Amino acid sequence: MKKTKVLSLTTLLLALGLAGCGEKEAPKVDPCEKHSWGEYEVTKEATCKEAGSKKRVCTVCAAEEVKDIAKKTTHTYAVTSETAATCQAAGSKVEKCSVCDDVKTTTLAKLDHQYVTATDSTHTAVTATCKVEGSHWEKCSKCNEWKKVEEGFAPHAFGAATVVHDKADGTASKLSKRTCSACQKVDFVVDALSYVESGSTSSNAFANKDTSGATLKMSKNGNFVTYTITVDKAYEGMEVALYGWVDYWKDGSNNNDQKGHIVNGSPTFSVKVNDTDVAVTNDKSFEEMGMTAGEGGNGTFTLCPVGGTASLKAGVNTITYARVGSYNLNISEIHFIG
Ligand SMILES: [Zn+2]
Ligand SMILES: [Zn+2]
Ligand SMILES: [Zn+2]
Ligand SMILES: [Zn+2]
Repeated sequence: MKKTKVLSLTTLLLALGLAGCGEKEAPKVDPCEKHSWGEYEVTKEATCKEAGSKKRVCTVCAAEEVKDIAKKTTHTYAVTSETAATCQAAGSKVEKCSVCDDVKTTTLAKLDHQYVTATDSTHTAVTATCKVEGSHWEKCSKCNEWKKVEEGFAPHAFGAATVVHDKADGTASKLSKRTCSACQKVDFVVDALSYVESGSTSSNAFANKDTSGATLKMSKNGNFVTYTITVDKAYEGMEVALYGWVDYWKDGSNNNDQKGHIVNGSPTFSVKVNDTDVAVTNDKSFEEMGMTAGEGGNGTFTLCPVGGTASLKAGVNTITYARVGSYNLNISEIHFIG
């Protein structure tokens, strides 16, 4: 009984096998309505030269689905030649892929010169003064190229100040004079102006006479102080510079973070010379003006040159230095240079 069954099964399998071979038909399994695909298996790895392929098989009916795997975009480059970059010319690098023979050329950026200050018989430095623009030469330590560096004018070389006039006639200021040793220009320094309280309306005019008899008058008015400085013709053509200091508040007030009041400040100051607005430059930070950031106090702005487009002319001149915000200022010095 048992033996007969085994034999008949073998016969059946043989018959099926012969029939399949002869007629070249797929195994007699019904195709699925919806395949149950297994995972893809890579049958050929992609390279940068050729696409690869992968296959998945239905776990029920053994149907196969084959898909391409895109060609790799990464190559296996090796450098075949290289010209190094210098500070004179760009370099280049040629690479070839060992798999697909693709050739890639890369430009190597020109290097920066390495300049060092140098001098020789034809490259000589000129020392800057207030009359002569200075310059010097630099030479590249790699390619020996020379480069001229312009330095512009140097500041005046003022000597010690001598007092011309010191609070005579009950005035609040004194006038000093100093001379530049290079160009002989004279700097008249009006200093020690009275501190102006915020909100003050009191008059604080003063007058000075220098040795040539020129007069300088100053008055102020209003809550938001306007200094009007009247200068006569003895100062004709001179440059004007204002020095001073400003109170500031940082935290806990409505004037937080006032910095370098002219450049960063809001509100600010305005300066006019004979009704022409002039730029006043002060790009110093709190710290550079000697202030301690984060605390209330006051600090000095060392120099606010006024001038350029507007300068003093013959006859009576006016310089108006106005505060348009609610904090205190103090002009400590006014300079007339010429
Ligand atoms: Zn299937
Ligand atoms: Zn390649
Ligand atoms: Zn160079
Ligand atoms: Zn000078």
